[in-house]
Amino acid sequence: MDWRHDGRCDVTLPTARVGVGAGRQGSRIEVRRLDKTYRLQTSQEVPALTDISFHVDAGEFVSIVGPSGCGKSTLLRIIGGISHATGGEVQVDGSPVRGPRRDVGFVFQDPTLLPWRDVLQNAMIGIEILGLDRTEYRARARELINLVGLVGFERAHPGELSGGMQQRAAIVRALLHDPKLLLLDEPFGALDAMTREAMGLELLRIWAANQTSVVFVTHSVLEALFLADRVIVFSARPGRVLDIVTVGLPRPRRLEMMVSPEIGALATHIRNLIGVQAEAVA
Ligand code: ADP
Repeated sequence: MDWRHDGRCDVTLPTARVGVGAGRQGSRIEVRRLDKTYRLQTSQEVPALTDISFHVDAGEFVSIVGPSGCGKSTLLRIIGGISHATGGEVQVDGSPVRGPRRDVGFVFQDPTLLPWRDVLQNAMIGIEILGLDRTEYRARARELINLVGLVGFERAHPGELSGGMQQRAAIVRALLHDPKLLLLDEPFGALDAMTREAMGLELLRIWAANQTSVVFVTHSVLEALFLADRVIVFSARPGRVLDIVTVGLPRPRRLEMMVSPEIGALATHIRNLIGVQAEAVA
C-alpha cells in the first residue's frame, strides 16, 4: 500500500479501484436547519433535534459527538432516509432525502447478523434484497472480507466469531453494494477498549480504500477526534450544534496521536462545551 498526497492510504487491492463500484466518489451531504420532534402516544412531544445545519464534503470523515440521548441516532436515521425530519431538510448530492437510499450503508452498534447465515451469506443480504448480480458481488464480498481481515472465516457463523469479527462482517455487508455514504452509529460501542482502537484504525483503512463519505456517531470524544476530519459537537437533548471542530492531524492516523497535545486540547475544548454532560461522554 502507499499513501496519497493528502495523507490517505491507497490500498492496492482490487476492491479499491476496479470492478463493482470502481470510480465512485463519496456523496456530499447538506443538512439544513433540521428539526425533529417525536410525538408520543400520549401526544406528549419530545424535541430531539433543533436547528441542525452542517455539511459533509465528498469523501470526508465526519464524527458526531454528544451526550447520550441528544439525537445522534435520530440524525443518522434521517440522513439515511429511514426516519423523517419535522423541519428542514437533508440533501445528498443536491437531492433532498425523501426515503431510504440505495447508495447508503449503515453499521449499528449491534452487528445484527443473521445467526443461521455464514459471513459470506450475511454480507450478501443487501445484494439479494436489491436484486443485484450475485456472482459479481460474491467476488466483491470476498475482496472486502480480505480487506477487513476475515479471510478464512467466510463460512463461519456469527456465533463462532468474536464481537470485533462480527462487526467487521457487518462493515462488509454495509459496504458491499458500494454505498457513497457510510453511516455508523456507535459501531464499536460494545467492544473492549483495545479491540475498539484496532477497529477504528481498520475503519480508516477501509474508508481510504473505498472513498465513501462517512458520518460516524459516538459518545467518545477521543474516538470522534482520532477518526475524523471534522467533529460536530452536539448539546444535550434537544441536540443542537455547539461547534464544528476541524482536526488538523495528518493522515494516516496513528494510535499515539490519541495522546497528542493537539487531540488533548481539542478534547478539553469539546468537553468544556458539552459542560455539565461531561460525565456522560468518554
Ligand atoms: P442518541 O443517539 O444521541 O442517544 P437518540 O436519537 O436515540 O439519541 O434519541 C434522542 C431523543 O429522542 C431521546 O430523548 C429519545 O428518548 C427520543 N427518541 C428516540 N427515538 C424515539 C422514538 N422512536 N419515539 C419517541 N422518542 C424517541
